Order: sequence, then structure tokens, then C-alpha cells
Amino acid sequence: MQDADVKIESFELDQKKLTACVKIRQVRENCRCPKCFKPLYGVKQWRKRELWGVPLGALQRVKIIFYQLQAACGECLKLPLAYAQFIHPRFKTMTTGFAEYAGRWMEETTIAAVERMTSCSGMSLWRLDQWRTKTMKKLFEIPADLPMSFASADEVHMRTIKPRDARFDKSKWKKKFITNLVSCDLAKVVANASGRSTKSLKNCLLQIPESIREKIKFIAVDMHDGFINAATDLCPNAKVTVDRFHVAEVLNRAFDELRKQEFEKAKATNDVFQLQMLKPSKKYVLVARKKQLSRKDQSQFEQLIQVNKNISNALILIDYFHAILDKNEVKEFREGLKLWEELVVVSKITQFEKFLDTVKKYQGRIEAYISSKLTTAISEGLNNKIKVLKRVGYNYTNEESFKNKILQRCGFINSRNLNTNEWYWHVTTPH
Ligand SMILES: [Zn+2]
Repeated sequence: MQDADVKIESFELDQKKLTACVKIRQVRENCRCPKCFKPLYGVKQWRKRELWGVPLGALQRVKIIFYQLQAACGECLKLPLAYAQFIHPRFKTMTTGFAEYAGRWMEETTIAAVERMTSCSGMSLWRLDQWRTKTMKKLFEIPADLPMSFASADEVHMRTIKPRDARFDKSKWKKKFITNLVSCDLAKVVANASGRSTKSLKNCLLQIPESIREKIKFIAVDMHDGFINAATDLCPNAKVTVDRFHVAEVLNRAFDELRKQEFEKAKATNDVFQLQMLKPSKKYVLVARKKQLSRKDQSQFEQLIQVNKNISNALILIDYFHAILDKNEVKEFREGLKLWEELVVVSKITQFEKFLDTVKKYQGRIEAYISSKLTTAISEGLNNKIKVLKRVGYNYTNEESFKNKILQRCGFINSRNLNTNEWYWHVTTPH
């Protein structure tokens, strides 16, 4: 044990506010130069600092008034502030303990919540969270024995950029996406990259060692050639499949196109009820399972089905399609799909006809999924988690930050997977 480097001068507590204020001063004889660690001489001044400390028992906010010595170093011939290991090298108003305490909270909950709990400013907390994820990302290496026999690649919409001069012209909007590579064995996002092209998935796959890529048996991707090409190229031993989650997503999009079409029709005929029911904000009511709806929603929903044949047919077709995807045998899937095709033709819903063309184009890969019996609950659950991240109030305008947040919440870049216990005491790399 080394000698104490600080001494407590006073300790005041406020039991009503559950706060404490601790005054501490560095022990002059033990002060060292931050550069060469040689002892310091004399006293130029005692610099007063205010630091955020960790909660202590019932005391929720602990303020530390810290007197830091500025003195002479015989070696460097300068007047540095004495080394204080527990002042965070990047966030000089925080103790390392506080930074790690708040940082771990931000791994679990929103920055706004941590701001309320600690009353530290949201901006500082946001910067701290960024710093921690970036630093951890540098420290993290994907282990060579990472279990990943089943993989899945998903794109997630990050944000839509609406140019100033074309706020209402959808054709000029730019959608930003992030591609995530998931190990289904672990239900974790292993890597991610910007965009949703062949290159995006390649960028993800190249972040993991070749030995792991060679061990992938199945990789589930979206129904588009970009991902399929990347997966085929870089996962030599994998069957590239299209899983039900991705198929269902495309089906939901087709249904939404139909909803828009019917909405426009209702506009033309000024059908107030249908306008109300088919507006964009109601689209989840339409695809929700009946049990999840409130009684009012449910009765309105029944009424809509009575008056709109296309919507009613489409919902039946969607239910039936899900039943087909539930099949465990490729033969049953094929039979079901054939019948579904006939029903789509009769329904004359063009959006579903288009969807069917896509399904047929990738039928072999969907069948590979069905015979693989790979569960998709994992990637679906993860995707929901990512969507929540977008909604909880992080205004991610920066792709890098959003990618890191995904890796923190849904992957390995957090204190559960990387031991940062040391950071409570000591944080290196101030540069
Ligand atoms: Zn020195």
C-alpha cells in the first residue's frame, strides 16, 4: 500500500436532499509530477476543483471539492498540477469512479434517465458515453472461438435526411441505413457497417476473423441480391438463406402500399371513417393481432373489414402466409405457397402479386431457411431492441455514434463483456 495521497478536510451532509459535500486536499509530500512521476517541490498554489463523486450509501449526490497542488518539478523544470489518478483524464469534472458509475448506467438506460438520477449535465454524459464505447471498441477483439454457426444480417433504418429545398418531395429524401451482422448462437450483434449494400455486409463480415466465417453454416439475409452476393462471397461454407422475419417484413411493406392506395381512394370519396382508419398512424392497429387491440380499436377494426374488401382480403392473406412460413417441411411450404398464389390472383391485390414475384425469385433460399429450422426470434428480438434505441430519445445524427450504441446495447461493447473494473480507479490513454 502506498501512502494516502489525499486527506479529508470536511464532510458535510444534507439528509433532506440526500447530498454530501466532501472537501479533500492532496497530501503535499506525496504529490508527483504527472509526466515524470518525480516528487514536486514547494507550493505554487492549491487549485480548487469541483468533481462529481459516486453515490455513497443513502447519499445520492456527492460533490467533491478537491484542492490540487500546483508545484515545481525538478526534472521537467515546469510547474505542473500534481498527478491525481482519480480525476478522469478526459472528463476533468468527474472522478473516475463517477465516470464508470454513470457510464455503466448509460449502457442500461437512456442518457436522460442518468441525467435525472445524477443531475450531471446530459451533454457531459453523452460525451462520456461516446468516449467509453469508442475506447472499449478499440480494446475489443472478436475471439477466435466465437460461436457463430448461424448468422443473420439485418438492415436497420437510421434516419431520413430531408433536404431543405425538398422537405415534401419524398423522391429526394435520403434514407440512411445501418447493416448489422448477428450471431444467432449468441443473439448478439457482432459487427455493423453503414449502408445496406453488398459493400456494407462485406464490411461487416470482414471485421470477423476468417476462421469464424468459415464456420458459419447458415446465414440468413434479406430478399435482395446485395446481401446474398456478399454472404456467398465471404462465407464459403454457409447456406445463404432468407428467413421468415425478412419475408414477413417485405409482406408488411406490400400491405402498407395497399393501405396507402386505399387511403387515397378514401380521400377521393371523402370517406371520413376510412380516412381515419387508414391513416399512417393507424397502420400498426391493422397488423396487430386482435387480442392486442383495445375494445374500441377492435370494434372499429371489425367495421373497416366490413366496408373495405381489399383490406379484409389482404389481412386474411397475411395470416395465411404466416401459417405457410410456420411449416416445417419444404413440401408443405410449396403446397401452401401454391394455394396462396391462387388466392392472390383472385384477390387482384397488385401489391401482393409483386410480393409473390419476389418470393418466387428467392424461393430456394426461403426453402433452405425452412429446412434449416433456424429460429428468427433472435434477430427479430434484436431488431426490436434496435428500433427502441432509435425511439428512446437519442437523436442520432451521427452514424458512428449510432453504430456504437447498437454494439453497446446489443453486442459486446459494454462492461458485461469487457472488464472495465479498473476504470473505477484508473483510466489510461488521456490522448
Ligand atoms: Zn516532471
